[in-house]
Amino acid sequence: MQPSTLDTVAEDFVKLALAVGQHDADYVDAYFGPAEWQATVVEESLGLDEILHRAQALSKQIESLPIDTTDSMNRQRHRRLAKTVDSLAAKARLLAGERMSFDEESAALFDAIAPSHGAEHFQTILDRLDETLPGEGPLLDRYSAFKQDFVIPPDKLDAVFQAAIDACRERTRAFIDLPEDENFVVEYVTDKSWSGYNWYQGGYQSLIQVNTDLPIYIDRALDLACHEGYPGHHVFNLLLEKNLLRDRGWSEFFVYPLFGPRSLIAEGTANFGIEVTFPEEERLRFERQVLFPMAGLDAGRVAEYYEILDLVKGLGYAGNEAARGYLDGDMIAEQAVDWLMTYSLMAEPRARQRLSFIEQYRSYVINYNLGQDLVRSHIEGLGGTAEDTERRWQLFAELLSNPLLPSQLQ
Ligand SMILES: [Zn+2]
Repeated sequence: MQPSTLDTVAEDFVKLALAVGQHDADYVDAYFGPAEWQATVVEESLGLDEILHRAQALSKQIESLPIDTTDSMNRQRHRRLAKTVDSLAAKARLLAGERMSFDEESAALFDAIAPSHGAEHFQTILDRLDETLPGEGPLLDRYSAFKQDFVIPPDKLDAVFQAAIDACRERTRAFIDLPEDENFVVEYVTDKSWSGYNWYQGGYQSLIQVNTDLPIYIDRALDLACHEGYPGHHVFNLLLEKNLLRDRGWSEFFVYPLFGPRSLIAEGTANFGIEVTFPEEERLRFERQVLFPMAGLDAGRVAEYYEILDLVKGLGYAGNEAARGYLDGDMIAEQAVDWLMTYSLMAEPRARQRLSFIEQYRSYVINYNLGQDLVRSHIEGLGGTAEDTERRWQLFAELLSNPLLPSQLQ
């Protein structure tokens, strides 16, 4: 038998991740490795017990490998593989029926625990919205009525979204070297629990799907273009492929296991990337000059719209509380929907869509808001403040090119 190295461990890890994927269709978000590896996994068709057994053996192998004290990249690879294999083992235990609390699950899978906030925290923000939003009656009704004026008409959606993508690509290219042949395809889909999704295909190509089940508001054009495309998921995935898989031969990057620590960095950078690409003033200008007119909306109301949205952003963590309460068994489904309507200000259809997202992806929800906050404080803590654009992009690109574990963010 060959002695194990990080390279042999990486290959075993990829095959185990594909094996977990046979038990959970959401687990393997992307795979573009050798077809023979996939064929071996299908042939073996491992049960969860055997997967867990092999994952534990792999953890021991990683522990027994000497740590490379001369090369920080190798040291980081070693550390990341250890954590990722532990995360895979936790996912296998969950699939086999082991119970974990919401916080135990997010720590085991994503290497992070989201802070808890009580209703009072969100109520303060709701009170401010109550003073700011026009009209009479329940807050949710007033907020829904206000947003009506900012829906992108379906026949203009593709043009608006393409314009947003072009602007995000151009701004990202000014700071990050992207391969010439990178590209993605956009599709509009229905009947999903998410609003947008990036399916990375390998070879610097993505398929981006936008869910049109519910009305799409104008702010989502730039948010989705940055988050799913530039400098978000598409760029993150292709930089990992280029820098780590192709240039260094780290084969663990043939696979992207969705329920692992990489996802917190993925969602956190995709969300934080929106404000890196479009700082507030520049965003307002672009919305006013380009996107609002293109969507046929009143460009004179840009500032008013974003003032309200900024307040609503403060409710971001309310969704985590619904997920925690529901998955920990402290709320039944209707209570979770009520909570989302009250504290996340989601109209009922959106609250129900969110609940199905929580049922499908569970503690993954923390990756968006906690991920964004951790990435922001990490980058700003190292000097990448809003005032220092160059440094901000440089640190952002570094995090995309050689991601840290969530617990390593400062
Ligand atoms: Zn995302």
